[in-house]
Amino acid sequence: MPPAHPFDDDKLKEECGVFGVVGVDNAASIVALGLHALQHRGQEAGGIVTHDFGQGFSSARRFGYVRDNFTDAETMATLPGPIGIGHVRYSTSGSKGATQIRDVQPFFGEFSMGGAAIAHNGNITNAVALRRELVGRGSIFQSSSDSECIIHLMARSMGQSIPDRMEEALRKVEGAFSVVAMTRTKLMGCRDPLGVRPLVLGKLGDGWVLASETCALDIINATFIREIEPGEMVVINADGVQSHFPFRRASPRFCIFEHVYFSRPDSILGGRSVYETRENIGRELAKESPVEADLVCPVPDSGTPAAIGYSLQSGIPYAMGIIRNQYMGRTFIEPTESIRNMGVRLKLNVNRALVKGKRIILVDDSVVRGTTSRKIKDMVLEAGAAEVHFRIASPPTAWPCFYGVDTPQREKLLAATMSEDEMRDHLGIDSLKFISLDGLYRAVGEAQGRNPKAPQYCDACFSGEYPIKPADMMDRGFEMKPAAE
Ligand code: SF4
Repeated sequence: MPPAHPFDDDKLKEECGVFGVVGVDNAASIVALGLHALQHRGQEAGGIVTHDFGQGFSSARRFGYVRDNFTDAETMATLPGPIGIGHVRYSTSGSKGATQIRDVQPFFGEFSMGGAAIAHNGNITNAVALRRELVGRGSIFQSSSDSECIIHLMARSMGQSIPDRMEEALRKVEGAFSVVAMTRTKLMGCRDPLGVRPLVLGKLGDGWVLASETCALDIINATFIREIEPGEMVVINADGVQSHFPFRRASPRFCIFEHVYFSRPDSILGGRSVYETRENIGRELAKESPVEADLVCPVPDSGTPAAIGYSLQSGIPYAMGIIRNQYMGRTFIEPTESIRNMGVRLKLNVNRALVKGKRIILVDDSVVRGTTSRKIKDMVLEAGAAEVHFRIASPPTAWPCFYGVDTPQREKLLAATMSEDEMRDHLGIDSLKFISLDGLYRAVGEAQGRNPKAPQYCDACFSGEYPIKPADMMDRGFEMKPAAE
């Protein structure tokens, strides 16, 4: 398993990426490339399932990076066939911190009409109740992952085909899900009714592709066709794409944090370039929270487009005041405790010649616990900066996410316990400003900002307004924000 990232305790983490392809030669190699492009969505483990009419279903599930597990000819030769799906994961549910290989997706089930494999991005908010019920009725779970509920619900369905069974299973599931699944001949994809997590459709020669993000289409030179719509299920085979909407229609609530941080900047979301959206966020930040300074510097890499936007809007020069070491951090082999304690210095270094004596605006994507922000501030001041101002490309993260993103408990979130001024004093910086929720909505293309009566996105980690009731967490004592607050 890759070693811990120096920022691991101080970033929200997307927990999965999914990919599937049908109608191509050597599906496994294409799935591996797609998963490699989605590696930012989960670095802990990955898996691929394929089907070939000679050999039946084949699967390989491994800890670690795609590039280290799914590139050698020997492994890839064990995954033959023209259809395949894959998954990369961080851990959402399941045995966090001690993940076992049985928790690694795709999951596989053998039904009376044939086998099916399924890969899930998101989080099932009623999984505890579902699992209890399924186990009570005799289901034997192989993993600790919530996503396995879908396979057991399919097994209990009376549907006549696997797509029918998947549809019936997903109707019982609450929460956020973008699912990619396969039978011997069919590739299937589905998004939850609110469309919280992304899923896109692409065309590759005579074949079809489903992927979490468009960057995974680019790497295989596939053509982006469209996003799978919220609440849509597609079934794809040699005859083409069949689409239907099996759930009660609802107003979409796509995860707004995908625009801020999770998705790759070269992906397209909702018809908008993620990079351009992030630049817009920087421009909005500069309009909302100007400050006199000499340089605008990004906290690499995710703060870069917003820093460029802030610089363009404010006229304050942009500079690489902090340099990222490309070859440390995630790839550092078994660091000793003393090296690990160097923390953020393993990953980032301050460009002393540039920052000395200057008033610096640092632009970052978010503040979660604040531990990294403090260390970066210390490094910039030690390098001789005259002033340090933080500008943050998201509103204060004051609530946990229950829809497929790993968040610390609420009390560990800096913004849950401190005001903006208190956070500024805690971080020991000259000023701290977050983009407003309305400013963020404007940056993603909502000219009037957020509609408080019917918000256009999921923004629960900022607003505390959860579009899907987190039933399991409430059973465990989580308290929602009172409606009138
Ligand atoms: S709570 Fe935040 S991170 Fe989670 S889905 Fe909603 S906007 Fe995205």
